This record gives sequence, C-alpha cells and structure tokens, in this order.
Amino acid sequence: MPYQSVNPYSGEVVATFAEITDAELEDALSRARSAYEEWRRRSFDERAAVTRHAARILRERRDEFARLLTLEMGKRIGESVEEVLLSADIFDYYADNAENFLKPVPIDTRRGEAVVVSSPLGVLFGVQPWNFPYYQLARFAVPNVMAGNVTMVKHASGVPRSALAFEDLYREAGAPDGVYTNLFVTKEQVGKVIDDPRVMGVALTGSEQAGSVIATRAGKAVKKTTLELGGSDPLIAMPDADLGPTVHWAVWGRLHNCGQSCVATKRLLVHEQIADKFLEEFTAAMSGLVAGDPMDERTTLPPMSSQSAADKLKAQVAEAVEHGARATEVGPQVPETGAFVQPTILTDVSRDNPVYGQELFGPVAMFFSIRDEDEAISIANDTGFGLGGAVFTSDIEHGKKIAHRIESGMVFINHPTWTAPELPFGGIKQSGYGRELSWLGIHEFVNKKLINVV
Ligand code: NAP
Repeated sequence: MPYQSVNPYSGEVVATFAEITDAELEDALSRARSAYEEWRRRSFDERAAVTRHAARILRERRDEFARLLTLEMGKRIGESVEEVLLSADIFDYYADNAENFLKPVPIDTRRGEAVVVSSPLGVLFGVQPWNFPYYQLARFAVPNVMAGNVTMVKHASGVPRSALAFEDLYREAGAPDGVYTNLFVTKEQVGKVIDDPRVMGVALTGSEQAGSVIATRAGKAVKKTTLELGGSDPLIAMPDADLGPTVHWAVWGRLHNCGQSCVATKRLLVHEQIADKFLEEFTAAMSGLVAGDPMDERTTLPPMSSQSAADKLKAQVAEAVEHGARATEVGPQVPETGAFVQPTILTDVSRDNPVYGQELFGPVAMFFSIRDEDEAISIANDTGFGLGGAVFTSDIEHGKKIAHRIESGMVFINHPTWTAPELPFGGIKQSGYGRELSWLGIHEFVNKKLINVV
C-alpha cells in the first residue's frame, strides 16, 4: 500500500508518496544514530529552545496545520485547530518540565552514596495511527526528544502529508537532521527497523493486531515497547446524575473526532431510573447535528476518515443486527457521498453478540439499561479492553468509589475520558501497557542508571 492522502469528504486523491528503498532506510538510520551522539550532549535548555520554537510555529500557523488534518482525514476544522493547539501545549509542557522530571533521585541506603540518574537510550521507533495525526506524534516524540533520545516514525499510510508537516516542524524549529525522521516504510521494513541494533525501543499506538505484531517482533529482539491500543470505554450514568450535562458529554464523547478516538464513549451504561429520559434527550441532541463538509465551521457531523473505515463500521452494525441487536438510526440524514456513517444506537446487545466485545470506531454507541451499580461494573469490566471510562453522578465521593472498581487505565468523573499534557494516558488488558504524557511518559524510554559510591 502506498502512502496516500485521500480527502474522505470528496473522495479526491490529493497526493501519493512512494515507500522508501532499503538504502534510503539505512541512510536514515545512520543519520539518526549520528544525530543521537550530538543531541544527547545538548543541555535541557538547548533542547527546550527547539521544543518551544516548535510550539510557537504551531500556534502562529495553526490554521495551515489544521487545514491539512481536515483535508487528509476529515476531522472537523474546529477540532483540527484544537488538535494543533493541544500539540503545541505538549511541546511547551515538556520544554518546561523535562529537566525536573528526569533529575537524579538519591537513594537512602546504608551502602554509601547512591543515586538513580535518567539517561537517554538512543534511537526510538514510533508506529502511529491516523486519528490524531499531530497529537499522536507529539505524544511520542516530544518527551523522548526532550530526554535526549532521537525519534523515527512510521505514520499511518492515510496521513502522509501530516507526517511530513510534523517532520518539517521539527526541522524549522531548529532540530538537527536525524532528531526526528519520518519514514515512509513498508510493513516489511517496519520489522527491519525494529531488529536494527541502533534502535533501542519501540512505541506503537494503534490496533491490538498491530500491537501484537510489533511487540512480538520487538520481544524477539529484546527491546522495550509501549503499546497504546484500542478501547471500548464505558460511560456509567447513575440515577443521581445531572441529566443535561450527562447527555451533552455522552454525545460529545461518542462523536468527538467522528467517534474515531481510542477513548471515545463507546458503551452507554445508564441506570434504569433515567434510561428512557436519557435516550430521549440523547436522540434529541443528535437530531440537532449538521452533517456535511468538515471544512465548514457549521458542520457538527463530518465524514469518517476513509471509506474503508466507514464500510467496516457499517458491517459491524449489520452483524450486530443479524445477532439480535436493535439498531436505531439517529441524527440528520447523512450525505450519500463521502465517507459518512449514520449515527446509530445499538440496544438489545446480548453478551454473545459479536459486537459486545468489539471496538466501535465511529458514531455508533451500544446502550445498556442497568439495574444497579454492580450490574454497571459487571458490564463495564466485561471486555478485553481497559483503556478509559467515565462515571456520571452528583455524589463525587461515590463516583470515586465506582472509578476504583473499573478495570482501566483512566477514569473520569462527570466527563468522558480525555487528555492533557500533564495527565498520564494509557491502558491495561488488551488496551496495552505503558503510559504516555505527564511525568510518567518521559520515563518510559530512559535508562534508570544506579550510581553507587561505596
Ligand atoms: P492500525 O491499523 O493498527 O494502524 C496503526 C499503525 O500501525 C499504522 O501506522 C499502521 O500502518 C501500522 N500497522 C498496522 N499493522 C501493521 C503491521 N502488521 N506491521 C507494521 N505496522 C503496522 O490502527 P488504526 O486503524 O490506524 O488506528 C485505530 C486504532 O488505534 C484503534 O483501535 C484505536 O483505538 C487505536 N488507538 C489507540 C490510542 C491509544 O492511545 N490507546 C490512540 C489512538 C488510536 P498502515 O497505516 O500503513 O497500515
């Protein structure tokens, strides 16, 4: 598959890029390794200057960066701007905090003077998805580059222009050649990069299938990995939840990025006392959406990122219905051309329905009316995933207790799971392992070296 940029609203092929040759890959690896020798010696202040410069460029040219996202994967233009600004915040956050996060930690010991220092590891390889084309790259690259590592990235084949824009961003910000390298590699070459002795760690964000392939390969080569994989986040609405905001955030949680987010609200678990009213208001809120061109600021229901993503979601709905689920279409009628999917609520989903355990990556939600908290927890945890989750209640202390019972890496109270530079991001179970962002993210790929003066 070549790297191809296709506008999912119009179907137009905007640009196609050839995959690199093995000789070009070797050259890129060698430049990255040389860059590491120099970059690791730079002070935190010097690395921070480049990193802050990148943040400034993103903010100054935010509309230009944002347009590229919308044209390439159909994200609503307002959300594209938000993503550019969030990415800029990640640059600033690590420019401000990396040195402090990585400062030496003295150990209280009877064996003389002991300290743990954090040193960079070398060349890191990231494999990244198309759904947040800049944010995902920032989440991987920025903390690692601030730590003194250098990064090489295989971005998803559907977002090559965003991939190049991010590489240019680092170059313009003053990063030496080889500190951040975009690679238009084949799947076979991905394996070669992982095996290469110059590469010291691998971070993947994507599906379980890709995670398993990449972690297996890295495991064979004895290299550390982090995996940020799929999710099927529950939103539990207790009877004392404030219904207006609960419905508002349920719609947002299901539809942000047209539902194509690992932490989207994919399963609605609503207490039976408020279930009917919730569904009525959820349906009413959906009917007020405006389907259309994601470049138009009035649009609130854009196409999905590609026709194949739309077809896959429709096939999941059809299979769910074949197995006894009820599919209720909501919202305005979506256009017939473009990668649109009619928002849908799936009810009567039994535990043996294939969709029950699947991730719904688009504007389709599963709805369960629940008897009590125990049933909510039982359904919430009855999944292979463990990424995020949300609890809506007016009793915050009770909400925290429910949060402790949910098997996931993140739980938000009175808001769908979301992200900020200072909040750790990641999951458990089939949603992967390791954390990105926050102080935790920068510790994943550094050598925690003990120095002991006895
Ligand atoms: P994907 O198909 O797994 O692709 C992710 C990346 O892996 C792409 O760069 C892809 O390249 C590459 N890839 C896929 N199979 C590969 C293989 N066998 N060998 C080498 N590279 C391979 O996932 P996606 O459909 O783009 O993204 C959606 C998934 O990512 C969802 O499950 C979502 O929940 C998850 N996600 C998780 C997080 C998180 O933080 N936990 C965040 C965002 C998304 P190609 O594009 O060339 O196939």
